[in-house]
Amino acid sequence: LVSRENHPDRSVVRVGGVPIGPGTMTLIAGPCAVETPEQTLQAAQMAQAAGATLLRGGAFKPRTSPYAFQGLGEKGLRILAEVRAETGMPIVTEVVDAHDVELVSSYADMLQVGTRNMQNFALLQAVGGAGRPVMLKRGFNATIEEWLMAAEYIAQRGNLDIVLCERGIRTFETATRNTLDISAVPVAQRLSHLPVIIDPSHSGGRRELVLPLTRAAIAVGADGVIIDVHPHPEEALCDGPQALVNGDLRELAKTVRDLPPLV
Ligand code: PEP
Repeated sequence: LVSRENHPDRSVVRVGGVPIGPGTMTLIAGPCAVETPEQTLQAAQMAQAAGATLLRGGAFKPRTSPYAFQGLGEKGLRILAEVRAETGMPIVTEVVDAHDVELVSSYADMLQVGTRNMQNFALLQAVGGAGRPVMLKRGFNATIEEWLMAAEYIAQRGNLDIVLCERGIRTFETATRNTLDISAVPVAQRLSHLPVIIDPSHSGGRRELVLPLTRAAIAVGADGVIIDVHPHPEEALCDGPQALVNGDLRELAKTVRDLPPLV
């Protein structure tokens, strides 16, 4: 279903009217985690001023450590909905448990499946039936074939509104959090008709890598990028070191505007 063999034209996925697909360089930005109404609104306004058309923000956070901030849950979803009402930006947010799919879908415009859940087949089937577009992140130890098969689980439930997101894979390299597999973009676009975006924030894990990796994404023909922003990264409850602040964001926006997407 997701293969390009039976579907030669590349697909466009619309999220609350915002297209992601060939010819687009959709900028999705927002806080890694929803912390407070003020922080989320400020991050959204920064993102929007820089040209972002979709708002990201995690209410359910899958953290490596059980002692780390786990997200605000439904309260976070309510904050996202308020910020959407204020800014008009459709919401992309993660769902980590099949039992929460209905709840998260009642707030979200796009459901995100994170790297750690790429092969959580019960979750994939549940999001496939939720009637919302899905962003499927590549498992940090998954092959491209496994990633596409995970997308197939969603598609099998009748949902072809799937965006693939390359977010870095685990290699021997420790200088970055994960290694952004930039070649996965053209490879996945060749094998599948689904749009492919990259996440330079979670792959690099460091603010200064976000702009160069975004440039690379545009050069290689990615259909969009998803990035973390925070009004006060030094106070962030999650992944502050990778969050962009206003100045970086303006430079990133200029890059996205100036480098024309490959079609
Ligand atoms: C995220 O985007 O908030 C996230 C946790 O990303 P990943 O699943 O790629 O680690």
